[in-house]
Amino acid sequence: MKSKQTGCRRTKIVFTIGPATQGPDMLDAVIRAGADVCRINMAHATHDWTRQVCNAVREASERTGRDIAIMMDVKGPEIRTGDVATPMELKPGEVFDFTVKPRSDGAHGEEVRSVDVNYRNLVNDIRVGDTVLVDNGLIRFEVLEKNDARIRCRVQIPGKLGSRRHINLPGVRVNLPALTEKDMGDLQVAAECAVDFIALSFVREPADIEKLRSVLDDLRSSAHIIAKIEDQQAISNLEGIVKACDGLMVARGDLGIECPFEDLPIIQRRAVRTCLTYGKPVIIATHMLESMITSPLPTRAEVSDVSNAVYEQADCVMLSGETTVGKYPVECIEAFDRIARRIERDKDVAHHVQTVLGSDQAKMLRSAVSMANELDAAGIVVFTRRGYVAQGVAALRPKEAPIYAFTNSRLTFRQMRLLRGVEPFLMNFGAEPELTVQKAIGLLYQQGYVKIGDKVVVVSDILASDRLINSIQLRNVD
Ligand code: PGA
Ligand code: MN
Repeated sequence: MKSKQTGCRRTKIVFTIGPATQGPDMLDAVIRAGADVCRINMAHATHDWTRQVCNAVREASERTGRDIAIMMDVKGPEIRTGDVATPMELKPGEVFDFTVKPRSDGAHGEEVRSVDVNYRNLVNDIRVGDTVLVDNGLIRFEVLEKNDARIRCRVQIPGKLGSRRHINLPGVRVNLPALTEKDMGDLQVAAECAVDFIALSFVREPADIEKLRSVLDDLRSSAHIIAKIEDQQAISNLEGIVKACDGLMVARGDLGIECPFEDLPIIQRRAVRTCLTYGKPVIIATHMLESMITSPLPTRAEVSDVSNAVYEQADCVMLSGETTVGKYPVECIEAFDRIARRIERDKDVAHHVQTVLGSDQAKMLRSAVSMANELDAAGIVVFTRRGYVAQGVAALRPKEAPIYAFTNSRLTFRQMRLLRGVEPFLMNFGAEPELTVQKAIGLLYQQGYVKIGDKVVVVSDILASDRLINSIQLRNVD
């Protein structure tokens, strides 16, 4: 009831599931607090756990009456260190090796500590003088020399090195395939569990997305593809990537390591603008409420960061550690909800959107949105089988009117959870469009989304003699 009294929140919320949120009570609470999409990070997931979590989310959706979407995040060409028996405390200035082959020679007598890397070509791709960053950029090395078995580095910023830590090589083009063997196995589970979205890490070019799409086709999965941009190459190919994907994630964790951190806000803005231009949804991810892992309230800086994403008109904001291991997952969702609702009411939120979409359909949707803006309509009602009409309208960022999107497909219903300003509804479509429209408006009235006397703009087929034609209609709720 709460959401209807105060209107719909436009900005959507993705949360990452983990030990802190996987229990049924917590899951219910997180969904009730307004989560829209549950992300499963495959860096930390076994296949059995993934199946369990998917079931748990679907069950919680049933219990709460709020069907949320599931996003599987596959790791793509991520470089990681191998296992170490006990974490190594590195010292400043220490010489340290990253090995790509088992040690045979070179080790005799030398007191150089080392760790394996899962990427054999490391020694070819990297140059002397390059930087190696481990564990989210916390530990920093400079490359001193290399041979075909290892690179030898000096520790510039020390730290504790544990097993399976993530490695970043800023500016180095990594020759790993877009989808690893592990990803291929993960994708089978994704298809089996019918997840709604696949997020692909470290997308570098549009071809990476095409590759994933053909794998999903073979697996008969209709999951939408979210391209995670995480390095400089993705930035260079931004436009092509946005055109090829179904949605984008600005993965600020890795981006902030792979690029100078002062570039991050510029990249974020450009990414959001490019997505708006091509009508694709965009997620802002990582460190949005990081302090809330241990604190029940956000910092002022975090409030501003989240607000900035809302001002930029991103579709979604995302939680990672905050909801996997944090102490205050529900408070995080509530904080997102409060900030988004407040900022969305601010007159300074930009609305003018210049899409490049030039089809007749796109032009018609533009007219529908300007009609709703001009007439202060209480909503834009659309009917959509695969979600494209809803996505097209959402991309135009209507000023006030929520988009009430009716679909007869459960998958589409869930996929629309990602779209800014879209409130999805699942409903059977009858053969007679007029009855379907009436049923939809009736349902909106019953559930308190619209009231008598409200104007709504309807985008729907109508029956003209015996032909179905597109229409934009202005209707009064009566
Ligand atoms: P990750 O991606 O959490 O899978 O690393 C997000 C990011 O890098 O920001
Ligand atoms: Mn990442």
